[in-house]
Amino acid sequence: MGLYPLFADLTGLPVLVVGGGHIGERKTAALLSAGAKVRVGAPSLTPVLMQQADEGKIEHLAGMFQPAWLDDVWLVVAATDDHELNARVAATAEDRRILANVVDAPALSRFQVPAMVDRTPLTVAVSTGGAAPVIARRVREMLETELDHALGALTALAQRYRTRISLRWPDLAERRAFYDWLHDGPVMAYLRNARPDLAERALLDALDANEPTSKRGSVALVGAGPGDPGLLTLRALRALNRADVILHDSLVSEAVLALARRDAERIDVGKRCGGRHTQQEQIHQLLLEQAQAGKLVVRLKGGDPFVFGRGGEEMEFLHQHGIACEIVPGVTAAVACAAYAGIPLTHREHARSVHLLTGHGKESLDAMDWPALAQDHQTLAVYMGMARLEEFTQRLLEHGRRPDTPFAIIENGTLPQQRVVRGVLQELPARAKERDIHPPALLIVGEVAALAREHAWFGA
Ligand code: SAH
Repeated sequence: MGLYPLFADLTGLPVLVVGGGHIGERKTAALLSAGAKVRVGAPSLTPVLMQQADEGKIEHLAGMFQPAWLDDVWLVVAATDDHELNARVAATAEDRRILANVVDAPALSRFQVPAMVDRTPLTVAVSTGGAAPVIARRVREMLETELDHALGALTALAQRYRTRISLRWPDLAERRAFYDWLHDGPVMAYLRNARPDLAERALLDALDANEPTSKRGSVALVGAGPGDPGLLTLRALRALNRADVILHDSLVSEAVLALARRDAERIDVGKRCGGRHTQQEQIHQLLLEQAQAGKLVVRLKGGDPFVFGRGGEEMEFLHQHGIACEIVPGVTAAVACAAYAGIPLTHREHARSVHLLTGHGKESLDAMDWPALAQDHQTLAVYMGMARLEEFTQRLLEHGRRPDTPFAIIENGTLPQQRVVRGVLQELPARAKERDIHPPALLIVGEVAALAREHAWFGA
């Protein structure tokens, strides 16, 4: 091993930063947040450092570097842009057996400061021993995405109950199993849901229970976004990473599924039983069975789970059966397709409102408030509308929407094969037929759709 990793407790200890520029300022901030007593030696300071000196948060040693600055400090960071001076600081420190770090000069440094992921009290430090700081930074970014923000709260909770946990499970293997449960089970789920009270209750119940902690399953209703995996949220990604089983719609793209835990079981509930669509009741039963078997279930839906996604019914059903449920919103097709076609849904000069509609089935068309929808300066985003384009257009025109109102149909929005077909309302059904549109496709009707021509930026 090149370097010996070490987390130092600097609380109340004097440390020296040589250099009062922006790098010195950054180093000072990190040392202050670790509780050190920071002295900054430099002829002049940045405004921020100056203010900190005025407020007594740091001590300013004014002037050129002197060896006496090192008297009774534990650590020194050389952060000037003068290479020779930095080397002199490091050599003086070495003579006195004080650990020194020279910014961006590993060969001169006795200690190095790692890249960090902060989930206090949990800290992850990454170092390449100065070999390639850029790679350390990349790894840090990867961990930053991966590590749930609730881990900090979980670690703090574990710290508070550490003794009780050790007393309750003196056997190491059992104790490990308990910590696994803590991390994978309801306690962490409650912390993610911003319910620390329930998390603590679940922990206390487990400590009091006579049996070993049973695995209790839960369901996350997760929005997968419209197709481009880059539009997945961090929370969705983390849910996919811990899923035991994923029930997904056929609309969810392969690229998104590829981000899920490798050994997670996948069930396509869009096309099961030899191509027939799985009934909603069957999906409910499947969710229930899997959760009751103690699994972490992800119900993955295209777009957002609560926008024409039947996520509401699934949530109600799960709550009726006492299954813990978490909802992770996704970028819905209207928002994503509009963005990827260069259509600002509520451009202030062209639209006062946006309506999310579904053109699926005759009943939904009958139930619409046509006089309202037919007024100008409103954007209509129509999901599942391709089958009834003719009727939809007809009714809008009958109720007085201008025949020259622009429209755009976005097929396979956000995917590499995205296609946008534009035109005006009166020619809508003919244009769609002529261009042979296939689902998934989203229709946008309204003055804003005209902007798609000028501002197209994605795909063909
Ligand atoms: N819950 C989803 C909508 C499900 S309904 C959401 O929030 O987006 C399915 C309809 O969504 C499709 O018929 C189509 O109109 C639209 N849709 C979903 N993904 C799409 C995509 N990538 N491109 C165009 N339309 C899409």
